[in-house]
Amino acid sequence: MIAPKFRTLPPSAAPLHGRDILAGIRALGRPHEAAEEFRQSIQKKFGVRHVFFTTSGRAGLSAGLRALRRLNPDRDEVLLPAYTSFSVPSAVVNAGLRVSLYDLHPETLAPDLDSLAAALTPNTLCVVACHLFGYPLDLDPLRELCRAGGAALFDDAAQAMGASIGGKLAGTMGDVGLFSLSRGKNMTAVDGGIVLTDRDDVAEGLAALVPEPAGFSARHVAQSLMLLAMLHPRAYWLPASLPFLNIGASVFDPVFPMESMDSWRTGLAGSVLERLDALNAGRKNVAASLLSKLDKMDGVRAIRPLPEAEPVFLRLPLLPEKGVWPHGRVPEISEMGVVRSYPLALQDIASLKPHLAGSGNCPVAALLAENLLTLPTHSFVQDADLMAMTGILKEISETVENTTNWLPGCSVQTIMENKA
Ligand SMILES: *Cc1c(COP(=O)(O)O)cnc(C)c1O
Repeated sequence: MIAPKFRTLPPSAAPLHGRDILAGIRALGRPHEAAEEFRQSIQKKFGVRHVFFTTSGRAGLSAGLRALRRLNPDRDEVLLPAYTSFSVPSAVVNAGLRVSLYDLHPETLAPDLDSLAAALTPNTLCVVACHLFGYPLDLDPLRELCRAGGAALFDDAAQAMGASIGGKLAGTMGDVGLFSLSRGKNMTAVDGGIVLTDRDDVAEGLAALVPEPAGFSARHVAQSLMLLAMLHPRAYWLPASLPFLNIGASVFDPVFPMESMDSWRTGLAGSVLERLDALNAGRKNVAASLLSKLDKMDGVRAIRPLPEAEPVFLRLPLLPEKGVWPHGRVPEISEMGVVRSYPLALQDIASLKPHLAGSGNCPVAALLAENLLTLPTHSFVQDADLMAMTGILKEISETVENTTNWLPGCSVQTIMENKA
């Protein structure tokens, strides 16, 4: 393998430090205490009563859904945003449930409440809300709809650990909440999931499903050490090419293990959690600089945070002003971490189709899958990178502004009009 000479920025990164590794090593000798300490830190920071740890966010989501199903065995549909991580439908199918879909608003990525209300049926077990890219959603209107429809609300904050809206923390606004510690999230322990709930009945179900943290695997220790070394911009080409890290890949795969987080990762995660606020503050600074530069460009617009939102900007998502890029060509700059996000709306994943309930007509999600561009905000992004990225985007946005060659019938305008 030949190392490229240029810097390669990962799309997202939450680097591990030497002292996180030490905390992981120390936890190996005291697994129970390390897990308890981490649990108490999460309880305190997020003000929740029950906290469970799983091997992955998907496993946590699946466990939460199974715990809800136990309380409501007659309902088997889970209502998802049609544009989100493929881990989300993977978890639904893993839990033996069916997927139905609602659309999003192209300006904010918030749920389209009309679409959500139309998809809610007497079979809906729960509605999952995803705070995409660290932009917190207002879940009050969703909670109302759920209550009226007899469904539960799942607050998936896998991309928004530490974000808040009107003083309420993402992950704590539903019947069950989720954080992910996978690579590419707000903070990472290589992988892992955290499930939160204040409901005793849900916690009882989770306790029966999720084993207590114990043991460790040498493979995870090795992966952590490689990740520690290799998310650096001069080394990123290597992990980007290592299949086991699966960085940046979107796969629908309902088969995955339901194990507890091992002691290595609880120790590691406990140490990283102390830096969460600093990691988020750093991303916010990078996002602020990017936003100030993007503000002056006419052809593109960043996704807008909701009123009273305190986003944590896992990445900075933007769209061309007219919804679609000229000639359908998304200006990805992969060596700078400027990439599209999920390649398909969920209704367009072929292997998910047998598990879909309902029509799955979500045109904005399809538009987002085609056109949303995300910029990196992590700590390796330097001023020179910001200048280079926005310089390239400026040139493109000027083309966007002047072009007349739009894909027919595909702009946000026409999609919104066709829906009305
Ligand atoms: C990452 C993610 C998850 C969980 O994914 P894992 O990779 O299994 O940790 C769940 N929901 C959303 C929205 C995510 O981005």
